Amino acid sequence: MRVTGKIDEIRQWTAQARAEGKHIGLVPTMGALHVGHVALIEAARRRCEFVVVSLFVNPTQFGPGEDFENYPRPFEQDVAICERHGAAVVFAPSPSEMYPRENLTWVSVSGITEHLCGRSRPNHFRGVTTVCTKLFNIVGPDVAFFGHKDAQQAAVIRRMVADLNMPLEIVVCPTVRQGDGLAVSSRNQYLSERQREDATVIYLALQAGRQMVESGATDARQVRARIEAVMGRVPAMQIEYVSLVDPETLEDVERITGAVLIAVAARLGPARLIDNIMVDSGKR
Ligand code: AMP
Repeated sequence: MRVTGKIDEIRQWTAQARAEGKHIGLVPTMGALHVGHVALIEAARRRCEFVVVSLFVNPTQFGPGEDFENYPRPFEQDVAICERHGAAVVFAPSPSEMYPRENLTWVSVSGITEHLCGRSRPNHFRGVTTVCTKLFNIVGPDVAFFGHKDAQQAAVIRRMVADLNMPLEIVVCPTVRQGDGLAVSSRNQYLSERQREDATVIYLALQAGRQMVESGATDARQVRARIEAVMGRVPAMQIEYVSLVDPETLEDVERITGAVLIAVAARLGPARLIDNIMVDSGKR
């Protein structure tokens, strides 16, 4: 496995792999790799002969006062994980390699970026879509792999790729959870032991929502209230949103018909946690 932080170098390597007829898979990450990322690398390996994992804590997707500086960067451990799981290349650029001058050019998706996390994180998705466009232009992947854990991000990227005719396929992989249901996340490291235990209430709440929808509830407000009540069992949990939305437009749903995405965000001590599940009411 090869490691580089240089755009010129990764371009050469992917050009060569392409010339050899290999399919190129890209797994964009911010590092601090865990089993959720590993599932993406493995999915990429099943589809592509040449897998590039990018490790880049992208400054433009963090807002003021967010955790950009404190975000974990266990570089050597990340490289070892990529090697163990069969990546061909790790691309780990510095911020100045990716943004050598003031960035004046942005890719931004309207509408679906304004719901859910977009409300409290203005410019977050603009940072994500811009850095993903840059990574797609640098690496030239046939397929890029994202996690359903960040369902809004995946929907935004899909939409960007469709709207701008970007020549690659987006694959979204299921959320990897710990035994007690908590979605694995690099930010779980911020939690104390007590907070880690409390965090399990998020998945319990989502499951309570699922149960209601599957047993016929159609009033989104009632389902939301139930989810909030379960999360409210942990007084330290500050709910940012509990939303039932259309899985494509991400617009709030009032009456549940068909598939619905239930998404939540909450603050627990130093961590902002997000999670979601797709539920199908079976009603059309
Ligand atoms: P991050 O490093 O947190 O920016 O995540 C990089 C990619 O891994 C994104 O596409 C995430 O959606 C995905 N990811 C993060 N956590 C999980 C998880 N628990 N299960 C599946 N995918 C995940």
